[in-house]
Amino acid sequence: MSPLSVFKSRKVLLLDYTPIRLPHRERELEQLKSYFAPVLDENINVKIHVYGSIGTGKTALCRRLGQYLEEKASKTGKKLKYVHINLAYTPKPYHVMTKLMEQVSFVESSRSGLSPEEMLAIVARSLSKKDYYLVLTLDEVDTYVGEGRDQSILYMLPRVHELYPEAAARLSLIYVSRSIDWMNKLDKATLDTLGRVSAMHLDEYGLPQVRDIIAYRVEEAFQPGRVSEGVIDFIARTSVGYGGVRYALELLLEAGGQAEIDHSETVKAEHVRRANFLIPKGVNGAYYPGELSLHKQLLLKAITSALEARTEPYLSLEDVYSDYQVACEEYERDCEDRPTIQAYLKDLEIKGYILLVRGNGETLVGMEFPPDRLAKALKESLKQALKSS
Ligand code: ADP
Ligand code: MG
Repeated sequence: MSPLSVFKSRKVLLLDYTPIRLPHRERELEQLKSYFAPVLDENINVKIHVYGSIGTGKTALCRRLGQYLEEKASKTGKKLKYVHINLAYTPKPYHVMTKLMEQVSFVESSRSGLSPEEMLAIVARSLSKKDYYLVLTLDEVDTYVGEGRDQSILYMLPRVHELYPEAAARLSLIYVSRSIDWMNKLDKATLDTLGRVSAMHLDEYGLPQVRDIIAYRVEEAFQPGRVSEGVIDFIARTSVGYGGVRYALELLLEAGGQAEIDHSETVKAEHVRRANFLIPKGVNGAYYPGELSLHKQLLLKAITSALEARTEPYLSLEDVYSDYQVACEEYERDCEDRPTIQAYLKDLEIKGYILLVRGNGETLVGMEFPPDRLAKALKESLKQALKSS
């Protein structure tokens, strides 16, 4: 980073970074720590739901807990591994288990050609053979269930102790969702296997909380004295209507970039205004393609690329579908069928990512904003979604 830069570290503002402190989530973190104490002290496994709206810190909180548990365990010589899997990016039990296998270093076996059940058997056996405890977060489980994905994974994991008694009490589970309504969509057998699960709800942050969180993130990301209290307050106020902390972080990053373009030593209100203008927004606030399931991201990628390449304002459904197939091929994923893609298009329209124009018995697909910025964000989020660990 150049000494003239307002930034100390840009990367701590990116979504995949887990901050060291979580202001206004200290109480929840302490509660989770005590809830997981038996895993550390008594070799008992636990299960919990963590739920709340988008941007309430669910993912950050669970990852932070995972770091704490691994550190605490290693101090006492206990082998504990925390694994975080985003189910919105793993549309099949096979993908979930592949990700799990990739992340548990104590499993030595190769996964090629194995079924999800076989992979789980290997993980379970390795847990007991290598004396490991596993805490597994299934993030965005509501997206997975809501898209009608194969529920067997939610059946297999909590039953691991019955299926493989040697793994008894070695697997703890955290289910993360926006709302726990997803359980209503489970078939009875799966619901029964989930059993009794405690739940922790994360309330949305209000303006004072967003302000404190941003002040702390500024401390981590910027050189001292570059972002004044007044500007922090302005960012917090501007962000509340667009999704809170997530938007505030994006605004900070962009405003810092604007200050650099101006060779300004400080981030000024003008930089925040410009940043706010530059960040495209949908009906629900700013766009976060990372929030979309893998296949919705692939679909959106196909649409942005096609719109960027063509001069006409709209694409036909045929074009969209064939471009989507090309995107799936590029990323080596099986395509969804046409009715599913049509349903996804409607969803993307509701979320404000695309426009659907209907007329003459035909539906056309377009976009209100220049697609380049979304394309850039998508490139990053797809990289995240497809990365192995
Ligand atoms: P969710 O998973 O509920 O959608 P995230 O955990 O992804 O929310 O949080 C959104 C962003 O805000 C992340 O970059 C996260 O690091 C940050 N964040 C959320 N809550 C806090 C907090 N209490 N302190 C610091 N940063 C936070
Ligand atoms: Mg999350």
